[in-house]
Amino acid sequence: MSRTMKAVVKTRPEPGAEWREVPVPIPRPDWVLVRVRATSVCGTDVHIFGWNRWAESRIGRDRLPQILGHEVAGEVVETGAQCSRISVGDYISAETHIYHPGDLQAMLGQRHIGERMKIVGVDHDGCFAEYFAVPESVCWVNDPAIPPELATVQEPMGNACYALLGEDCDVTGKTVAIFGDGPTALFATGIARAAGLTSIFVIGASPYALEIARRMGADHTLSISDTTVDRVQFVRDHTGGYGADIVLDMVGAPQAIKEGLEIIRKGGRFSAFGVSGSASVPIDYNNGIVFKGIQIHGISGRRIFDTWYRVRNLLASGRVDIRPIVTHLLPLDRFAEGFDIAMGNPRQCGKVVLFPDAAELSDARRRMGMV
Ligand SMILES: [Zn+2]
Repeated sequence: MSRTMKAVVKTRPEPGAEWREVPVPIPRPDWVLVRVRATSVCGTDVHIFGWNRWAESRIGRDRLPQILGHEVAGEVVETGAQCSRISVGDYISAETHIYHPGDLQAMLGQRHIGERMKIVGVDHDGCFAEYFAVPESVCWVNDPAIPPELATVQEPMGNACYALLGEDCDVTGKTVAIFGDGPTALFATGIARAAGLTSIFVIGASPYALEIARRMGADHTLSISDTTVDRVQFVRDHTGGYGADIVLDMVGAPQAIKEGLEIIRKGGRFSAFGVSGSASVPIDYNNGIVFKGIQIHGISGRRIFDTWYRVRNLLASGRVDIRPIVTHLLPLDRFAEGFDIAMGNPRQCGKVVLFPDAAELSDARRRMGMV
C-alpha cells in the first residue's frame, strides 16, 4: 500500500477545503484502518466546510489541518494489535460518536451523549479520504446486501430512526408531523411509513425535496411558501382535531419550533433534532409545553447500536428504499461541487455521496440507474 493518500483537508479557518496528499493514518492498537468505498456529505461537514461560528468554537483554528467527513462505508484493511471483534476484509460503517466506556452516560445505556464522547470528523480526522482510521469499538459490520452508496448514510438514518422512535418505540398507528426537507427528515418519512404511522405530514421549503418526501411515503406535504394553508389547522383537520402525536423538528428555526409546539397534540412527544442558528429560541412555555403535557426529547446522535441494527435490517430487507433520497454520486475529488449541491437554496438534492475510487463510483451509478 502506498503510504500517502488523497484527502479533503480543512487547512485554514475560512470557507473551503483542499484536496491534498497526506500520510495514510496509522491505526492505534484498538483502532482499525478502513479503505473508504463511499462517504457522504452531512450538515456537520457543511458547517465545517463553510467555517461558521459553530465550527470556529467547536473545532477551533488550532486543530487545523483536519480531514473532513464522518459518514462512511468501507473495507477494513488493517487492524491494531488489540482489536478482536473486527477483522481485515470486514465491510463496515462506523458510529461517529466515539464513546468513552467509563462515562456515567455510557454505563446507563446512553453512550451517544457521554461526557467524554468524541465525534469523527469533528474531534478527529474524518473519512473524506482514501483511508480512514477509527476505533474498533464504533465499527458496525454491514449487511453485504446494502451497497456502499446506501450503507454510508446509515449514520444519519440512525438519527432519523431515533428521532422518530424515541426511547419507547411506541409509534405504530400514530401520527407524525416532520418539520424539514433535508435527508434526515426524508429518512424519517420512510421509516415512519415502514413503522406503521398512519398520517405522515412533512413540512418543508423545497418542492424538489417534498416530491422525494411523497415518494418516501408522506401522506401530506406542506410547503412553507404556500400562505393559503393554515398548517396547524390542516394537521388538526387530518388528525381528528387533536394535532400530531409526534413532532420531529429537523430544522431548528424558531418559526418551525413554534409551529411544532402548536401542531403537537396534548400529551404528544416532540423530538428536537434541528440545531438552531439563533442564540435563543422564544417559546410559549406555559401553553406549548406545561399545559399540553408534552415530552421534549433532544436528539444528539442515536442509540448505539440499537438504531444501527434497525436501520441495517430496514435497508437490507428492502422495507425502506432510500434510493430516492440518494440523489447525487460524485468522485471525492469533486467534493467542492458536492458541497455546492448540498448547500443549494432552495434545496435541489437529497444526499450527496462521494467515492474515492472511480470504479466504485461507476458500479454505484450503474446500480442506481444513473449511467
Ligand atoms: Zn452525519
